[in-house]
Amino acid sequence: MGEKEKKKITPRRRFFTDMAHHIGLGTMGVMLLGGYATKAKSSPLTLRPPAALPEDDFLKTCIKCGLCAEACANRPQNLTRDGKRKDPLGTLKMAKASDNVTIGTPFFTPRDTPCYMCEDIPCVPACPTGALDIAKVTNPKTNELDIRKMDMGVAVVDVHSCIAFWGLQCDACYRACPLLDEAIKLQYNRNSRTGKHAFLEPVVNPDVCTGCGLCEKACVTEKAAIFVLPREVAQGKPGDHYVKGWDKQDQQRAGDRKEEDITTHDERSKKKPLDYLNNGLGL
Ligand code: SF4
Ligand code: SF4
Ligand code: SF4
Repeated sequence: MGEKEKKKITPRRRFFTDMAHHIGLGTMGVMLLGGYATKAKSSPLTLRPPAALPEDDFLKTCIKCGLCAEACANRPQNLTRDGKRKDPLGTLKMAKASDNVTIGTPFFTPRDTPCYMCEDIPCVPACPTGALDIAKVTNPKTNELDIRKMDMGVAVVDVHSCIAFWGLQCDACYRACPLLDEAIKLQYNRNSRTGKHAFLEPVVNPDVCTGCGLCEKACVTEKAAIFVLPREVAQGKPGDHYVKGWDKQDQQRAGDRKEEDITTHDERSKKKPLDYLNNGLGL
């Protein structure tokens, strides 16, 4: 970033930060929100900056000041070797009416510009309201920022369009991942049809993936076959009615039979599919 640009940004950043401290965040939020009479609701697929609060809280807390996007847009990580930015707007964008995201709030689109997982995560401390919660990316033991704690979403693979699942050699997403062999691995699978070839299929570990989207950006298919979704969209959770394991109610319904006499789905699934399907058919 040139000195000239720094000078352009600093007064704006100082203005919002000072204002937030002097007049109180609530008042400031009302003032700024008032400027956006038309408010679009965000698509559930919207990806927020690192350390963003859960969406409802985020929308109540973000005052649309754009300081996170400014901090991001000017990072050297967004510069190419010849000093030009890969994307002049940086990773974080402030939503316009046409973006299908609540107007004025920050978001990113990995296929255009992913998050480069900057070690110092400059977008987060730039936020004056806590809409980007620095505690979420702080290591409690060292009190230092920890980029690996970022959680913007989770990458999912569309196995129908990923060419590695067709048996073609491609590891573009795997190599693009900053947490290679942790957030994403290549799983070896023998091609049982030919008996000779192998599939090397990308598999994401959702517990490690930060949702940075570098894999999505790198994917070679026309429409990315690996893409980042908000975690609550990508990952299901058991419903409240789901009961784990054998409980008293199950025992009552089973009468005299013991737990070990009853074939569970897990046991069935350990058998080969044909054994299970043909069970009891005398085949
Ligand atoms: S961590 Fe990501 S969003 Fe934040 S400044 Fe870096 S590239 Fe931008
Ligand atoms: S997330 Fe924070 S820094 Fe970014 S626009 Fe909202 S209030 Fe401003
Ligand atoms: S989004 Fe993709 S590149 Fe980023 S951590 Fe997850 S698997 Fe790796």
